[in-house]
Amino acid sequence: MAGAALVGRRVSFVLNAIRRYKGSLSRQTVSWFRGLFPFWRAQRLAMDFRPSSAGCKQEVRPPPCPVCWGPCWWDGWRLVAQMVAGAEGLVVRLIEVSRHRARCQDATCPGRSWTIYEAGGYPCRTFVVAVAALALAALAVEVGATLTSVARRCRCDPRTVGRWQCWVAGLGDPTAFGRLCSRLSPDGFPPPRPDGMPLAGLLVLLLEHLAQLLRDQGVPLEPGPGLAALLRQQFDRFRAVSWLTRASPPLQVEAAMAGV
Ligand SMILES: [Zn+2]
Repeated sequence: MAGAALVGRRVSFVLNAIRRYKGSLSRQTVSWFRGLFPFWRAQRLAMDFRPSSAGCKQEVRPPPCPVCWGPCWWDGWRLVAQMVAGAEGLVVRLIEVSRHRARCQDATCPGRSWTIYEAGGYPCRTFVVAVAALALAALAVEVGATLTSVARRCRCDPRTVGRWQCWVAGLGDPTAFGRLCSRLSPDGFPPPRPDGMPLAGLLVLLLEHLAQLLRDQGVPLEPGPGLAALLRQQFDRFRAVSWLTRASPPLQVEAAMAGV
């Protein structure tokens, strides 16, 4: 659970970057960004007490089978290493994160057995998605930020940050996400769309806004950055994985609104 708690903590380098920002963003836009990031901090308490299948297998049974919704059994576990966003803006490596598997009680169910990802976890990622979101946000709003400077903070290679940029830029059309925000917003206003904002950073911030609106409407999203929460929701509900280095399905955010 330590990793889960760390993911939601304050990431000061992003906040500091926004405070220092003297570029072309309007004051209204900057204040909008600043209004979003404290939301991540506010999630920390909720995340600390969030029930998770990882690390408490003796107390609870696994979630229902995602195929037939029948009861399941635990089916082994392993320890994995993760790079997570920790306190004070540092990216830290956790080496003993529990990751369990579950098996459907019905031996004939095609669901068979599957991995249950801990809070903040995502398939095939050592760097949790929250770290990618924070890196791209910093790259978008910090004066003088480069792939190298952001990579140094994230303890990764600059090429990794470049891959995150391409990956997030391909997740969807910012205009479509903006329209969704307008539909969900109580006042119907579109989110700010600053000129000159890199596409990946713009999408991170739009998805942050969108996730906040969805949470306000009662959609149960994981705490943390909107990008990570929406991707995780897509995976948990539809088993849709957004791969980093190969073609992926687009985000189906409209489907996430089902029942709103
Ligand atoms: Zn099943």
